[in-house]
Order: sequence, then C-alpha cells, then structure tokens
Amino acid sequence: MTEPVNRVRSTFLPFSPPAISEEEIAAVADTLRSAWITTGPKTKRFESEFAQYLGAPAALALNSCTAGLHLALVTLDLGPGDEVITTPMTFCSSVHVIEHVGARPVLADIEPDTLTIDPTRVAEAITPRTRAIMPVHYAGHPADMAPLLEIARQHGLYVIEDAAHALPASYRGQRIGTIGDLTAFSFYATKNLTTAEGGMLTGAPELIDRARILSLHGMSRDAWKRYDANGSWYYEVVEAGWKYNMTDIQAAIGLVQLQRLPTMQQRRREIVARYNEAFGLIDALQTPTERPDSESAWHLYVLRLNLDRLTIDRARFIEELRVRNIGTSVHFIPIHLHPYYRDKYGFQPEDFPVAYREYQRLISLPLHPGLSDEDVQDVIAAVKDVVARYQNQRYPLSDSM
Ligand SMILES: *Cc1c(COP(=O)(O)O)cnc(C)c1O
Repeated sequence: MTEPVNRVRSTFLPFSPPAISEEEIAAVADTLRSAWITTGPKTKRFESEFAQYLGAPAALALNSCTAGLHLALVTLDLGPGDEVITTPMTFCSSVHVIEHVGARPVLADIEPDTLTIDPTRVAEAITPRTRAIMPVHYAGHPADMAPLLEIARQHGLYVIEDAAHALPASYRGQRIGTIGDLTAFSFYATKNLTTAEGGMLTGAPELIDRARILSLHGMSRDAWKRYDANGSWYYEVVEAGWKYNMTDIQAAIGLVQLQRLPTMQQRRREIVARYNEAFGLIDALQTPTERPDSESAWHLYVLRLNLDRLTIDRARFIEELRVRNIGTSVHFIPIHLHPYYRDKYGFQPEDFPVAYREYQRLISLPLHPGLSDEDVQDVIAAVKDVVARYQNQRYPLSDSM
C-alpha cells in the first residue's frame, strides 16, 4: 500500500503565465484608441529605448525572435553551400532558420555546467564552408563568448546570437545584445519581457538598416510612414523581403514591460536564491550555475536530477510534481533527437553526448515575477517530497532534507 500524495496546494501552479499588469492593458487600450495601430511611433520609441537600455548601436522591432534570426542570416548573405554552427540544446526555430536560407546547420555539443555551446567543440566543427556561429544563451546564461569570438576572428566567421532567454544578461561586464554581429531577442508570452509575440534584432546600424528593409517586403525608406501626413505614395521594392514588422499594439506592451524589467528581474533573482538554498545540499539534485564572469537573465531555473540517487526517471519526476499541482517544463528536447533533423542528417543520440545526457535529467521549475513567496514554498515542498519518497536507499539518506 502506498501513502496518499500530499497535494501541497489546492490549485495548479502553471509553469509560466505572462506577467501583464493594468499598465500594459491601459497602454494597449490607448494605442487602440489612437490613429496608429501597426508599426508606427510606439514601435520606433520601443526600438530606441531598447537599444539605449542595452547600449546597442541600433535595434529593429519584429514579430518574433525567429524572424530576427532568419533576417540575421539573410542580412549577412548566408545561403546554400554555407554552414552555420549552433547548439543542439535549443528551441527548434534557431535551427529551422538555417534550413530556411538553404544553409547547413552543424551542431556542436554543450558545456556541462552552463549547457551553452562548447567553444572546443565549435573549433572542431569548423570546415572551409563554415560562415557563422550561432550561440544560444541557454536559460539566460551567456555562452562563453570570448573563445567563440576568437574562433570567429581566426576563421572570418559571423557571430549571430540567439538571445531569446538573455534579456538582460552580461558577459564580462558587457550586455548581451552588444557583443556579436547580430543578436535576436524574443518577446514571446513566456519570456522575461513579453509583447505576446515579438522580437528585437540588435547590431550595427548598416546591418539593421538592411534587416529593416527585408522585414517589410523589401520596401525602401521608412515605408511605414507612407500613410501619415508627411508620407508619400512613392516607394521602391529593392529586395524580395518578408512581413516581419512589429505592431504599435505590441510595442505599447513592450514599452511598459521595459520599465518594469528591473523590478521583474529582481524578483527572479530572489526566487533563484530561494531555490538554490533549498536544493543546494540535496544529493539527488543539482542546482544551476552562474559563472563569476557572467550575469544570467535567469529566464529558466533548470534543476538537474542525479538519477543514480533516485528510483524514478525524469518523466516520472515531472508527473509526481504535476500530481502535487506544480507545473514544470523541459528545455529542450535536443535538436538531434527530433525526427526531422535526426533523419535528414543521420544523427544518433550519442553524437552529442553532453546534450543527450543532460537532457535526460533536467527539469525547468516555475520561475517568473508573479510567483508569491507561498508559491515558491509550494514548489520547494513538492520537490523535496518527491525526492524524499523516491530517494535511492542504496545511498545514505541526505540529512539536509
Ligand atoms: C522562444 C525561443 C525562440 C523563438 O522565439 P520566438 O519569439 O517565439 O520566435 C528562439 N530560441 C530560443 C532559445 C527560444 O527559447
């Protein structure tokens, strides 16, 4: 007979609801009542405030981070015959965009502590066809940019950063968004700053200017102005571009979120400190690291299970948390395990052994500014309860519980 499960709380704690306040709602209503609802003055202001916040030379607001990564590749003229090195530990869209331009994605395994791309593996993956490196700042922790930039310099490669998780993060005192050639941020509903859907590309003004034209059908000169009082009916199409522009409704949300960002980040750090304190001494668990030279954006709190200390696997651990009313997630199922990439490139799970091993033991716990102290306590209690119940008795019981 098994003991009944302690549900910990009466309502389900969702993994990551968006942090929208009355202020964003009012800003959207204000935009909807104005004469301009798509790309316009608020988008322009959001771009300049965002660039100023990071210290980036220029920024382009888009309808997603995926659009930003795609435009980055097109802007740098990457295409068929080219190879782009990226990480298997990412969301599929970082790799899809490489496929979209007709280039070949080349995966390089990750570092065991930060789970970001390993510069040693990147160096090994270079061929005469390599044109760019695309690091992903996994969970908000910067990839090790100094050796990556050095490799890029030696081989004449571009560096395109997937910073979907990395607002705001710093590497050796430098903000992510000011380091590589082009950097793409995501404002998807679950990200540190949200516009429901949205993204931002940062980089040198010449690159951002070309990306801007490509983001709006390839139309030259501030095409969005053509409907205002000073606008002109005349425009020229100079490239076959895309429809990737951000609306002023989204920018209105983004402007408020940018003001709230320092407070929201402060709360993320408080929660991370509580989790680390609660889980740090439990043998069955490994808490996430933040390297001394880096400041993580703490987009995700990725807890790793020491599976030899437990009698259950990761899937069961997630299920045990779910029945205790705690929502979790997994970031990510590595790229090389997905049928499309596995079959196209003939990948085996062990081709990227660190990504494969770590994937099997990681869980993302709820981490967002809307969590109350009681919510955080509930997560801690649920995790401790699952560990206590399924601890492998071959090991002496941890006295830290
Ligand atoms: C969310 C995410 C993306 C995609 O962002 P969108 O804004 O939804 O396009 C890309 N890369 C990573 C690592 C992500 O987590």
